[in-house]
Amino acid sequence: MQPSRHNILTPVEGSQSWLLLNLLSGQADLLDTPTAERFQRGTYDDPEQLAAKGYLVDPAEEAGRLAAAHAAFQAGQQDDEIQLFFVASYACNFGCSYCFQDEYAPQQTHDPDAVIDAFFAYVDDTFAGRRKYVTLFGGEPLLPSARARHVVERMIEQTRARGLDLAVITNGYSLESYVPLLATGNIREVQVTLDGARQVHDQRRALKGGGATFDRVVAGVDAALEAGLTVNLRAVLDKENLSDFGNLAHFAIDRGWTDRPNFKTQVGRNYELHHCQTNNTRLYTRLSLWQDMYRLIEQDPEILAFYRPAYSVARFLFDEGQLPDPLFDSCPATKTEWAFDATGAIYPCTANVGKAGEEIGSFYPTRSLRGDRVADWSGRDVTTIPGCADCAHQLACGGGCGAVSQSWKGAIRAPDCRPVGELLSLGSALYGQRELPREP
Ligand code: SF4
Ligand code: SF4
Repeated sequence: MQPSRHNILTPVEGSQSWLLLNLLSGQADLLDTPTAERFQRGTYDDPEQLAAKGYLVDPAEEAGRLAAAHAAFQAGQQDDEIQLFFVASYACNFGCSYCFQDEYAPQQTHDPDAVIDAFFAYVDDTFAGRRKYVTLFGGEPLLPSARARHVVERMIEQTRARGLDLAVITNGYSLESYVPLLATGNIREVQVTLDGARQVHDQRRALKGGGATFDRVVAGVDAALEAGLTVNLRAVLDKENLSDFGNLAHFAIDRGWTDRPNFKTQVGRNYELHHCQTNNTRLYTRLSLWQDMYRLIEQDPEILAFYRPAYSVARFLFDEGQLPDPLFDSCPATKTEWAFDATGAIYPCTANVGKAGEEIGSFYPTRSLRGDRVADWSGRDVTTIPGCADCAHQLACGGGCGAVSQSWKGAIRAPDCRPVGELLSLGSALYGQRELPREP
């Protein structure tokens, strides 16, 4: 028997406890420091129990379990719902200080109705029999123009005709005026971004050419929630606005948003994907954002009523009392995510939609698919990324983002590492106020 290669042992931030977990066996335990140190040295108090929990293994037996779990994961992916992004236009009325689409905006010259109809015909043919929904993305899809409104009307018609849900990702500026129209559709959610309370948001997310946007976005969120639409409020964070995140949380709490069942939140890390940002010292790493978020929540725990960070699998573990299934792949591109734009091009996902050279095919005016490129994306998981092969964190990490790997390491199948141990350390301190289940 030897230690499993999937054991993760990490100190719980600010305590004398350690978290030992194994995503392949689905076990997690809190250890005291002397026990954790003995475990690290290979001195085991109760080898039989450690073997029963999959912390000590016969490597051949464990390899078999890993292969079975991988097969189950792949089979599950075949049944997963597919998210199909559609960009009707890259035009936007905001001039956000960190926008990555500013450097590429392909010109669309086709008749919008013809492209939308071709998109749905492609979806009908290509994804028949799969669970799926459509997300309208941009640019800004809810511009205050007759053309933009017509596109939304047609997207609602076409999704309704197929019984599909439609999600909308908007800057929120004209959301209020679109709410009556959206209320006629099968709207899964409306994602709206606020980067802080009024002053900070308006500095980062002003209109092109200047002009405050906060109050209009808030009015849009109010109207959408009142109409029963689900609002997913997103904040894009970097070092310039993290300190205002608590103010945003309190604004949402005081406005009653967090009491509504149709309100949820998410955080995006402002990160360098395709080009150097003008002021990249403001960017957080994958770890430093969550370290600073942890300190912020320590000072102001009410933030948790607004947003509960995942900290790798820590939130899931302590909320559910069990671990999630092993994550062999964290990048849905060309598996459960595809992106389409009004030029008729197909892209692997939202991170590269509209970027010249990233197309993997076309759906209008003619159909084609680059099988070699699709295979490169769709075959990406921790078993095919060479750098992930021996990583103990692989079943919590999933190999990261293929677009980041391609951008920074020149290959889709390169690791984009998550700081799993450090995140678990913080998350188990934040959420782990109670005992873990002790029995297998
Ligand atoms: S490439 Fe990155 S952004 Fe695109 S689907 Fe994969 S993980 Fe998501
Ligand atoms: S991307 Fe990095 S942390 Fe993630 S599984 Fe691969 S080697 Fe491990």
